[in-house]
Amino acid sequence: MAKVLHRQIGPLTGAVPVDKIACALGVSEVRQEALDGCEGILLTDRTRSVGKILVNSGRGAQAARFGIAHELGHFLLERHVLGLAGTFTCSLTDMRETRIARLHERQEVEANTFAIGLLVPDDQLAPYLKEQPDIRSAMELRAKLDISLEAATRCLVDRHEEPIAAVWTVDGKIRYAVRCDKFPWLTRKKGDLISSLTRTASALAKGSSGITSMSEVPAAAWTSADIPELFEQVRVGHNGHALTLLWATLPDTDEEAGDAD
Ligand SMILES: [Zn+2]
Repeated sequence: MAKVLHRQIGPLTGAVPVDKIACALGVSEVRQEALDGCEGILLTDRTRSVGKILVNSGRGAQAARFGIAHELGHFLLERHVLGLAGTFTCSLTDMRETRIARLHERQEVEANTFAIGLLVPDDQLAPYLKEQPDIRSAMELRAKLDISLEAATRCLVDRHEEPIAAVWTVDGKIRYAVRCDKFPWLTRKKGDLISSLTRTASALAKGSSGITSMSEVPAAAWTSADIPELFEQVRVGHNGHALTLLWATLPDTDEEAGDAD
């Protein structure tokens, strides 16, 4: 649906005007307010004859833009089942939902997929998918499209052809992680301390800020999967926060000689 919308809108430069698009599609009101305990609310009915969106302004403009796109997703995906009192009330967990388990989660995943598809037009993303995985690509996307670094990174992880994963940590503890289907499982999970073998741990120990180069790391630092090579790049942010990008080389599954890199 996001693709169809972009075909109708035509090429855009810069940030996607998500408020205007929502209003053009029948949402009568888009508001931002400091909300406590929820990130976004869509007030609507089963046939979508009415639509009002309220999003949390407390986590910055880029998160609010994502929230609007997410609620617009619920509005346009008419089979999404309303909650109590004709509303969708979406939490921060909902806006990060990637598991497709129960109905609620499936709806949240779909709204997130729509939001990313709307905020990141294919033609603007395409050049970065041809480059080797790099946190700098996510940072450029963030600046160009006025989306959060988190959303830009998730988008790269989802769409890049290489097996990559991203891990968000604070003070060396995992906050959450996303990986593409091809990436081997991550052994560590939310709340775990990262291994001292990781590049992230050494960058944090050095107290260095900024972005490291993508360099090889023992696979055991992140996974117990038997893979030939693992590369890691880290961006150390403020207050102990770090974003780590992992890039795996998978075992050859055919007779072809593998690429040198
Ligand atoms: Zn939602």
